[in-house]
Amino acid sequence: MQITLKPGRERALTKRHPWVFSGAIAQAPQNNSTIVEIYSADGQWLARGMWNSQSQISVRILTWNIDEVIDGLWLRQRITQAYRMRMLLPAYTDANAMRIVHGESDLLPGLIIDRYGDYLSVQLLSRGMDAMRADIIRALVDIFQPKGIIERSDDDMRTLEGLPPSQGVLWGEAPPESLIIRHPTGLLETINIDGGQKTGGYLDQALNRIAVAAYASGAEVLDCFCYNGGFSVATALGGAQSIVAVDSSASALTALQNDMQLNGAASTPLEICEADVFKQLRHYRDNERQFDLIILDPPKFAHSQAQVERATRAYKDINWLAIRLLRPGGILATYSCSGLVSADLFQKVIFGAAVDAHRDVQIIERHTQAPDHPVLLSFPEGEYLKGLVCRVY
Ligand code: SAH
Repeated sequence: MQITLKPGRERALTKRHPWVFSGAIAQAPQNNSTIVEIYSADGQWLARGMWNSQSQISVRILTWNIDEVIDGLWLRQRITQAYRMRMLLPAYTDANAMRIVHGESDLLPGLIIDRYGDYLSVQLLSRGMDAMRADIIRALVDIFQPKGIIERSDDDMRTLEGLPPSQGVLWGEAPPESLIIRHPTGLLETINIDGGQKTGGYLDQALNRIAVAAYASGAEVLDCFCYNGGFSVATALGGAQSIVAVDSSASALTALQNDMQLNGAASTPLEICEADVFKQLRHYRDNERQFDLIILDPPKFAHSQAQVERATRAYKDINWLAIRLLRPGGILATYSCSGLVSADLFQKVIFGAAVDAHRDVQIIERHTQAPDHPVLLSFPEGEYLKGLVCRVY
């Protein structure tokens, strides 16, 4: 099947950006086949990709090489290449938890594969990958011989592709409800692949937790949006005096308590708080409670361009409150995983919060997603996590 672009609309493709938007297409295929050939207006072959008439992103490119055939073998080679790259990451050789395929950034658009011990957690976020599910399962079984492959395609990106959510065991055994995994930092986490958030956990923060823990010695820590307590465990082991962990999820807070034990951090005084962070920060402000180290790691606030403004207001609100709660000289480790909020915009939002809190704030570290979530230069959209570690005076 063939797709012809409008004149001039091949520019992004010649820079190897992997998406073709519906507005760039002059002539679309009549049927709804999955694999399509893309041609420029003057008839030049440009790339081969996956077609979805129901998505704004009409085509996701699979190859720029006319000789490359898209089949099960091709898929297996791409996944193997992605896995080899992880095995070459210094910190990851002893880890049994890592992202193995990071979608577009690993030249597999819409495919996410996370490894949690002997289990693989998979998200099929594009129509093309959904259609290739049998080949994906076969390739994963061949390469990894996992105990089980679990689908967690319950992300909102499926809706944009016109696909229903899909979740369950794709192959092999169902994972245990509490699976202990080892991060590249050596920290252990109890994961529930089937019932947890995202694909089960937040692998992207693995290294940042240790970086933040370097500021924890003797500190009264407030870990907001703590989930299973990745930052709580790390800061406890980093010598925190006490920790308050806040999240709205009761099951995450149970896992957190378990993980403190598991990592030998149970002697650090821990206060668990099941609450809305926005309200809880106000409660601490009203009670003049103070901390030395505050972590803000909220969920994605901006899911579309239309939500960016509201998201920046939410970021500003929690950061303004957190800055106020810090003792002079305290540390704020603040994150945004909204890809649509750029690093530049995020920094401006934190600046606005500092101004309103009447405090001087210095950036001392800039964080990003862990290296098992690489960023392809031709696809800067793949860089979604940004963090600032700040000294607040
Ligand atoms: N810091 C975690 C990841 C956080 S993910 C880690 O290192 O693994 C975001 C978390 O925010 C989720 O656990 C979710 O349950 C929680 N959450 C979302 N909205 C919230 C709210 N308004 N108040 C409190 N917690 C919230």
